[in-house]
Amino acid sequence: GGERHPSIPLPRDLFAPERKNSEGVDLQDKDTLAGVASAIATSPLPLAGGAGGGKTPDPGAGSNALPTPNPSRKREGDLIGAAQSAYPAWTARPVHERADCLDRLSDLLETHRTELMAICVHEARKTIPDALAEVREAVDFCRYYADQARAHLVPIELPGPTGERNVLRHEGRGVWATIAPWNFPLAIFLGQTVAALVAGNAVIAKPAPQTPRIAARAVELAHEAGVPRDVLILAEGGPDVGAAIVADPRIAGVAFTGSTPTARKIARSLLDDESRPLVPLIAETGGVNAMIVDSTALPEQVVQDVVTSSFRSAGQRCSALRLLLLQEDVAEGMLEMLAGAMDTLIVGDPADPATDVGPVIDQAAYDKLMAHREKMRNSWIHTVSPLPLAGGAGGGKSPQPGADSNALPTPNPSRKREGNMFFVPPTAIRLRSMDDLSTEWFGPLLHVATWKAGELEETIARVNAKGFGLTMGLHSRIARSAETVEALARVGNLYVNRSMIGAIVGSQPFGGEGFSGTGPKAGGPHYLPRFCAERVTSTDT
Ligand code: GLU
Repeated sequence: GGERHPSIPLPRDLFAPERKNSEGVDLQDKDTLAGVASAIATSPLPLAGGAGGGKTPDPGAGSNALPTPNPSRKREGDLIGAAQSAYPAWTARPVHERADCLDRLSDLLETHRTELMAICVHEARKTIPDALAEVREAVDFCRYYADQARAHLVPIELPGPTGERNVLRHEGRGVWATIAPWNFPLAIFLGQTVAALVAGNAVIAKPAPQTPRIAARAVELAHEAGVPRDVLILAEGGPDVGAAIVADPRIAGVAFTGSTPTARKIARSLLDDESRPLVPLIAETGGVNAMIVDSTALPEQVVQDVVTSSFRSAGQRCSALRLLLLQEDVAEGMLEMLAGAMDTLIVGDPADPATDVGPVIDQAAYDKLMAHREKMRNSWIHTVSPLPLAGGAGGGKSPQPGADSNALPTPNPSRKREGNMFFVPPTAIRLRSMDDLSTEWFGPLLHVATWKAGELEETIARVNAKGFGLTMGLHSRIARSAETVEALARVGNLYVNRSMIGAIVGSQPFGGEGFSGTGPKAGGPHYLPRFCAERVTSTDT
């Protein structure tokens, strides 16, 4: 009996502000927060459940119904043909002019930051800190790729051993398709798109069907920043629209972020048509990301990093921690502390500044995650309920500390769905074996298994065997263990003694291997050249 959780105080602010290159706004500052809150409240987009602005969505029109989009931004006709006609003039412009457009766009994103944050909160159900991080990452991508282009997409003189002159040039390939996910509807949507643009391509940019509005705003701002209207064309729609674009033989390359099965379909479509040129596919997909914790790790740090990595953004990041691997000897103590930390999470209205964990993107995601969670019910270690939304609008009350923290809350069906927001309770689930998890659950569900002292190498091999290779975490104070993991882990991003999310553009280039993607890494020095045709001229002198 007695206290379930040790009384070591955990910082209230479990989700420390995300590190970025661009300046943030101080969300602790009352006036700033009031400005953000008012932008969210007065946004023309309604937040389901009544917390947001003016119009209420048509109740009959589907779970995520938003007002009819502004028809003027929809373009009809042959979009790829239009982009193709605009391409030669754009690609002929000096690279610094294209880079200047990206810099102007980054300034416009900063100027419109609160508006963009409000759209993110309404449309993607992002929490306020996540919405801020989103805009800042978009800014970082624009500035980084602008700098990279100026520095590296220039003619390079190569040695001429027999007296000839050799020059390598980076040039545009034509019309790229960029296909973006809803989980970073601004940052990844723009990151892929501006990379293709600055490399000298025209772009057909397709946002996820869940998040068209933030993308439309981003495209408007890019046009305002000087990207010609036909050089960057927004193509809204679902998988059928994406499939039609990719199948068009005029498309010169595809940059895609989303699921592994969709990446495969795109690859097949690009290769199937024998009359079609061979074109590059850059795919960034999911992961079954593990964190390995040994008995020398600092428990408070582990717990904080686990909570951030698995539950921030409601677990809807492809970098998120899915499989926590605790050394057997310390597992029970760590799990007690983890439960205590989970109890401090506020799960509720994303528009409420106090919220740590918002809803998942839509009903389909909710249904999938909840079915799995339910199936694993007998293996729950701990779970946290969402706050009821006050008056159907916002939560805001702190959870009762200690209240019923011993018992697993009985599911209350009335809490499943609040207005049109779908809350999946953050849940830690015990596995008999680490081999029992082979799929990515894209939400706040953390699976936990143990490993035995002395079996670090075997443990890494078993994680590698899953075939994904995106992120991995290690918590250990033993340098040799870190070296072992670094040598053996087949992942794109390894995080030692820190959280596993929030890669910083330019410092932590992001992307994986295996089922997790093709590379090159977004926000890294080798990204832009992949959008280019490399051409060499050799002249006898
Ligand atoms: N770059 C993001 C991070 O490090 C994840 C990107 C994604 O979810 O696609 O958290």
